[in-house]
Amino acid sequence: NNESFSEKAVYTTPITVIDEALPPIQVKNLHKSFGDNEVLKGIDLEIGNGEVVAVIGPSGSGKSTLLRCLNRLEETTSGEVLINGENIAAATGNALDRLRQKIGMVFQHFNLFPNMTVLDNVALAPQETKKMDRAEARERGKQLLERVGLGDKADARPAQLSGGQKQRVAIARALAMRPGIMLFDEATSALDPEMVGEVLQVIRDLAASGMTMVLVTHEMGFAREVADRVVFMAGGVVVESGDPATLFDNPQHERTKDFLSKVL
Ligand code: ADP
Ligand code: MG
Repeated sequence: NNESFSEKAVYTTPITVIDEALPPIQVKNLHKSFGDNEVLKGIDLEIGNGEVVAVIGPSGSGKSTLLRCLNRLEETTSGEVLINGENIAAATGNALDRLRQKIGMVFQHFNLFPNMTVLDNVALAPQETKKMDRAEARERGKQLLERVGLGDKADARPAQLSGGQKQRVAIARALAMRPGIMLFDEATSALDPEMVGEVLQVIRDLAASGMTMVLVTHEMGFAREVADRVVFMAGGVVVESGDPATLFDNPQHERTKDFLSKVL
């Protein structure tokens, strides 16, 4: 339950690597089409160190595509996606690998490796991609599992976990790569309602730790609480953005008002 979880949430090691020199994310006139379907129609967005940005908007508005362009899970059609000043949209080879490693992503579905223990799920990528030795990767993996309240589940298999626990493992797995940026795409949408809170608590703690984050979310109350800025997207454009109180209480555009009237 949440109470025992928050008792465990005492952190000793810094987990984010911050490059102070340049903003973590600058998106410049980003366009993305799938065939004839232009899904992103010129997105401009800058996200500062430690900033938490919530992206909201109707289904099909391009939120997931935007997130996937940030870490090059999608190729962009035109425009720039600068990660600490380097254009990931045009990067190749080692430079692309290095930029991707700065960004952790958590999806609606957890995609854990079912045949591995929880700890191996968390400790695998640092060993394979960063050549961290096994002992170090496992030690760090244990710390991260503690951090998400699952220190006692290291030897379990994913199938033995609840949905909320699986999603917390997925977060620990992303953190194992020491990303400076975390992206969450509807991380709680597939969960039973009673498990949403424990995952939001982990995200809340990450925000408090200074992690730079972009959260695509349907949880308006959570966006309001945790985000420094809320971006409302519709039809492949950013319609408006602002601090949560302003955007939720005093939206300027009809499309924003219409959307909020349906979800709040
Ligand atoms: P959201 O996350 O806001 O619901 P998406 O970014 O998932 O929106 O989708 C925006 C549009 O892009 C939708 O019309 C969707 O059908 C289309 N789309 C997304 N991914 C693909 C793809 N891989 N191939 C073709 N069309 C896609
Ligand atoms: Mg989506």
